[in-house]
Amino acid sequence: MLRIDNLKAYYPLAQRLFAPKRFVRAVDGVSLRLGERETLGLVGESGCGKTTLGRAILGLAPVTEGSIHFQGQDLSGRNGNALHQLRRKIQMIFQDPYSSLDPLMTIEQILGEPLDIHRLYSSREERLEKIHSLMESVGLDSSQARRYPHEFSGGQRQRVGIARALALSPRLIICDEPVSALDVSIQAQIINLLLDIQQREKISYLFISHDLALVQHTCHRVAVMYLGRIVEEGLVEEVRSQPLHPYTQALWNAVPTLEKERLSEALPLAGEVPSPLNPPPGCHFHPRCTHATEECRRSYPSRREISATHSVACHLHTSSK
Ligand code: SF4
Repeated sequence: MLRIDNLKAYYPLAQRLFAPKRFVRAVDGVSLRLGERETLGLVGESGCGKTTLGRAILGLAPVTEGSIHFQGQDLSGRNGNALHQLRRKIQMIFQDPYSSLDPLMTIEQILGEPLDIHRLYSSREERLEKIHSLMESVGLDSSQARRYPHEFSGGQRQRVGIARALALSPRLIICDEPVSALDVSIQAQIINLLLDIQQREKISYLFISHDLALVQHTCHRVAVMYLGRIVEEGLVEEVRSQPLHPYTQALWNAVPTLEKERLSEALPLAGEVPSPLNPPPGCHFHPRCTHATEECRRSYPSRREISATHSVACHLHTSSK
């Protein structure tokens, strides 16, 4: 479904005359795979590059290097109508249901817009029928189609956002922290709705979140991202029962669990994510890692396959050890 190879997304900074060019390395050599009907969780702290990665897949962030293949076709090698048609199959659900909907448009207008752009109806009646069907598919009352976003609750607005993402019958939806702006009581409803939709429509999800506990209940596999790079990847069960990277261990340590004692040796995460403008040399995690050695400060660890499905980038797990 989706294949990302060595993807880099750098943002150039405004520079002074004769000063060397500087870049924010938001995504720095990411390779990932996502299968049909699969949910891949992409986790990490704020500022680690996960949203930029999602936006790069959609063509909303610069691709400096590397490639993105979707259903076997290179997104970067296409343009014009071919790209337009391909991108139709990839949609996004945004974090904030309050700001992602135009307050001046009714729900009918919001859901009708993608149908209009892609001319997906042959009559006004069919257009309205599709809009009503989209609303009902996400548990909204279609008789409220003429209402405005402010007349709905946060959870209902996120349902509108999901309906808008479904309007073009996508095969992949990028869910960017889809419940983090909602009340805890509503979060489970939205997650269950997303899971139901996946069963019904056979969609794949790239599920971006800072919350490992949520990913544990939602995803098949998880990729842990730190400062623009993937540091550990595997089946959720593998990464939960045997987290190998000290950063993954620290993230799990922050999750309330009955098994907390098992990871008690892993220290809580201290300090902030360093700036992607000036990442630390060697392993980017070394200033926060209690296991850091001279080698960690000198060289970035390559990713090692621990099993067919589990890999990690950490000198503690290089092949000789
Ligand atoms: Fe810690 Fe070294 Fe592993 Fe980086 S490579 S996570 S600094 S032990």
